[in-house]
Amino acid sequence: SLPPAAVRSLQAADVARLLPRPAESGHKYTRGVLGVRAGSATYPGAALLCVDGAGSGLAGMIRYQGAAADAVRLRHPEVVGEGRVQAWVVGPGSGEDAGQALAACLADDVPLVIDADALAHLDGPLEVPAVLTPHAGELARMLGVERESVEQDQLAHVRRAAERYQAVVLLKGPRTLVADPSGEVLVNVTGTGWLGTAGAGDVLAGLIGALLASGVMPWQAAGIGAWLHGAAATRAAQHGPLTASVVAATLRATIGDLLHPG
Ligand code: AMP
Ligand code: MG
Repeated sequence: SLPPAAVRSLQAADVARLLPRPAESGHKYTRGVLGVRAGSATYPGAALLCVDGAGSGLAGMIRYQGAAADAVRLRHPEVVGEGRVQAWVVGPGSGEDAGQALAACLADDVPLVIDADALAHLDGPLEVPAVLTPHAGELARMLGVERESVEQDQLAHVRRAAERYQAVVLLKGPRTLVADPSGEVLVNVTGTGWLGTAGAGDVLAGLIGALLASGVMPWQAAGIGAWLHGAAATRAAQHGPLTASVVAATLRATIGDLLHPG
């Protein structure tokens, strides 16, 4: 039922143009408040990495809710607790809390990034603007197919998911694809095999969340997020093998390169 795919890519100049910039008369609330519901007693690290990705300066404020609040506060003194948000990230390391966390975020009626454990709790078209960020295994489970089928035809499966959930779907992997419900597809051109490291996806989810909170539309937020995440990884890999923390720590300089070229 979808038209044939016309696959496009974002280049550095596109990302630079689309990056949110602070308005001269702006303040932290107008720049966007992101809520993060991630981590659990079993996976506190996912909360830290998700906040790391969100905390690269693109949003005005981050609120964290979850089981890792003490650890998040120690690593990120800027992060605050409950209150109103303009967007949510939910799912990284949420484990058994994922269903409840997703329901709470959906009830807020703001744009959101749905990742990891929360993806298993989706049951049909979304009514809020959303970016879903599965890897091949998570997408297979969402569609009720084998992981091998997804890997053999990533394009068809990511488009099918975007149509089914009426959301932007970002399929992570060696070649990250972003699809929207109308069948449009972006292929991300940045990145390195060193990104195949624990927690890299948590950083990406946080980064896309910060973009959504700052008012970027889901399709652009997913495309820009994937581009910056891959570019940060390539930049950091010049100095040695990657950890997810190092990728997150390199996001600011990667954004800086775009804001101040040359
Ligand atoms: P996750 O599986 O949630 O930890 O996410 C893994 C992240 O690493 C995603 O952003 C993937 O696109 C990226 N990634 C994994 N393997 C590769 C690879 N071989 N080349 C480039 N990026 C990769
Ligand atoms: Mg993941």
